[in-house]
Amino acid sequence: MLSNSSPEPGWAREQFALPRAPDEGDAVYLAGNSLGAQPHAARRALLSAVDEQWAAVGVAGWEDCGWWEAPRRLGDRIAPLVGAAAGQVVVGDSTSVQLFGLLVAAARLRPDRTVLLSDAGHFPTDRYLAISVARLTRLTLETASPAAMAPDGRTAVVAVPAVDFRTGERWDLGAIVARAHEAGAVVVADLSHAAGVVPVELDALGVDLAVGCTYKYLNGGPGAPAFAYVAERHHDVLDPPLTGWTGHADPFAMTEAWTPAPGVGRLRVGTPPMLGLLALDGALDVFDGVDLAGVHAASLALGDAFLADLPAGVEVVTPREQARRGGHVAVRVGDAQGLCAALARRGVVVDARPPDLLRFGFAAPYVTLGDARTAARELAALLG
Ligand SMILES: *Cc1c(COP(=O)(O)O)cnc(C)c1O
Repeated sequence: MLSNSSPEPGWAREQFALPRAPDEGDAVYLAGNSLGAQPHAARRALLSAVDEQWAAVGVAGWEDCGWWEAPRRLGDRIAPLVGAAAGQVVVGDSTSVQLFGLLVAAARLRPDRTVLLSDAGHFPTDRYLAISVARLTRLTLETASPAAMAPDGRTAVVAVPAVDFRTGERWDLGAIVARAHEAGAVVVADLSHAAGVVPVELDALGVDLAVGCTYKYLNGGPGAPAFAYVAERHHDVLDPPLTGWTGHADPFAMTEAWTPAPGVGRLRVGTPPMLGLLALDGALDVFDGVDLAGVHAASLALGDAFLADLPAGVEVVTPREQARRGGHVAVRVGDAQGLCAALARRGVVVDARPPDLLRFGFAAPYVTLGDARTAARELAALLG
């Protein structure tokens, strides 16, 4: 397949169903940072899974339809989107569950250390899980902004996002990994707001472990299963806490003791949500042959068009420098919830994050420059 290295914003719009606006036309859909729009291919894959696989094949589908291997196969489809060589990514449970497993496994890689260092502004599930994992592993939880993190000889684990979920700031993952490794710590990166919109070079940066969401910019559908990455150098030693039977080396031997599957397969837990996996399989077609650096450039162009048309008085909390921006732009407003609802009545779908942020997500496959300008114009009109 030809590589599309400089796609235009909205290049794949025809491949998507967009939510309806009150006037029954397509909405300007800028909530892809929360739930991506539906690719037609995801719908087709889901219908086929229901009618041609589950209904027609039944239990034999685990073998005959490739269900059993789907978590690894889909991992290998996602791997190039996050800069990972094959065999290091697996898809299965929610981001929260995968993150729990990786944080504990990371702590177990550094049994001599005492600190879990996490982003102070991390997404709630990441913060709540860090508190629990610290209790469980008897680490002391310390927090800092990713840019200010100073891991030292006490630090076991550094937990950071690639992009801030609120402000849309893209962190310098390479610098964070370098500092962590210099101190001998293990990095657990959360790519939820990067996967499908920002290029991440997991292998090249030397990230140890990572998780990422697939229902945001990867458009896998509500509750689509997340992915986990384990750098190959950790494969033989990774000791995950959720020792479910599908992560066993020989699950159907049904032995007494748990023997880990080789490599990243040991991160599988229970029977995966197969319909969600198969919908995601279809959704990923949008990214076939597409270069993530090009996707990010298109997303940044959308953000620039939006920023250029915003009235001067609007407070933008996202850095304007392209190198420090992820896929969305956040603005600070008085009544975020009220404005979010008013924008929706005008056919512009965004989301609000308490207390005072509106987020405009620029998912480049289906958002056009016209959409970005419309959003700025409607916001300006509402702000008077
Ligand atoms: C969206 C997101 C999640 C979502 O976790 P779920 O388990 O799918 O609810 C987790 N972490 C980050 C950083 C996110 O942006």
